[in-house]
Amino acid sequence: MSEQTMYDMEMRHMPDIGGHFGRFGGKYAAETLMGPLAELEAAFHASWEDESFQAERLRLLQQYVGRPTPLYHAEHLSRAIGGAQIILKREDLTHTGAHKINNTIGQGLLAQRMGKKRVIAETGAGQHGVATATVAAMFDMQCDVYMGREDMRRQAPNVFRMELLGARVIPVDCGSGTLKDALNEALRDWVASCETTFYIIGTVAGPHPYPLMVRQYHAVIGQEARAQFLEQFGRLPDVAMACVGGGSNAMGLLHPLRDDNIRLVAVEAAGYGLETGQHAASMLAGRPGILHGNLTYLLENSEGQINGTHSISAGLDYPGVGPELAAMYDAGRLELDSATDDQALQAFKRLAHTEGILPALESSHALAAAMRMASTMTPDQMILVNLSGRGDKDLDTVMKVFGKGEKA
Ligand SMILES: *Cc1c(COP(=O)(O)O)cnc(C)c1O
Repeated sequence: MSEQTMYDMEMRHMPDIGGHFGRFGGKYAAETLMGPLAELEAAFHASWEDESFQAERLRLLQQYVGRPTPLYHAEHLSRAIGGAQIILKREDLTHTGAHKINNTIGQGLLAQRMGKKRVIAETGAGQHGVATATVAAMFDMQCDVYMGREDMRRQAPNVFRMELLGARVIPVDCGSGTLKDALNEALRDWVASCETTFYIIGTVAGPHPYPLMVRQYHAVIGQEARAQFLEQFGRLPDVAMACVGGGSNAMGLLHPLRDDNIRLVAVEAAGYGLETGQHAASMLAGRPGILHGNLTYLLENSEGQINGTHSISAGLDYPGVGPELAAMYDAGRLELDSATDDQALQAFKRLAHTEGILPALESSHALAAAMRMASTMTPDQMILVNLSGRGDKDLDTVMKVFGKGEKA
């Protein structure tokens, strides 16, 4: 795509002035945050138009993150399945091992530009906390990460990682001591500290302009993949797929492909099975409500309380989804699929055995759905899958499962 076409495309897919994508999104935040959110929006747009800001962002994406990441034709896996070709976008090869750093580099640079000396973040499993602590160390900014007490217990190595990087991890005791409680605490901190502090949100959620900003910082994934696909195969894929927690790796891959004639598929975590109620499939099984400053599909009970979620992959264990994905689904531009814990584990094993790649358990959900779809297609068709992260962080989890009598 030429730069002009790219720009026209961006304009077609902007939220309205209140930050709505269709009927979703918006800015449901405390009165005191309306000013700071407007200031953030103005600063974001100014930086986006600023060539020197973009040049610095690009330099860091290349030299620090390791972009462009390769597009890899998983021929051995595809042959073993005997259907469509599976092509992987290798976000697992970025610095810190997952796509999240594309976003924290962008927001970190914006924080610097706005003169903020302190950044805060919320984290569930700790992966966004680590990505934030990483750039805070590099940019020499103070970094406080809110994390549920229960999550800190379950994810002790990531707490240690953040501390090694110079961040302070603040335990959150209210509620269930998990991600949604950490989100609330981070927003509360920001209400009191927005003069000096930049809140780095970890996915395409939060009040406007966050869903838009995070999409733009991750769009590099789909822009690269599109160009690489044309160069390596002389065509575009038939299907593009990504797993969905909050939806940032999915929006990053799918947004730049949405005006092409390509099926777009988001894969949600079905946990123990959609019928058990123990899953994190916000679009397949949820309904519209407000969480974290925006209107979107949520898993909540009839009293509006957020349900407990379950997924074997910590990164998909989120009770909501980015509002733009909700809108794309409503508009019929996004197909949904899901994979259970077991299906993700089988996909993890299969990629390891056929290609010598250990995928993150999150990414394994997208792989599981891709393998299933590929087996119904023909070898001349192609499925692009976002391999959002590497699996090293999941070895403990995988070991516990395969250690229980099942041979890896
Ligand atoms: C956090 C994470 C996800 C889920 O987050 P999204 O915002 O939905 O992309 C997926 N994969 C990996 C490897 C992650 O770390």
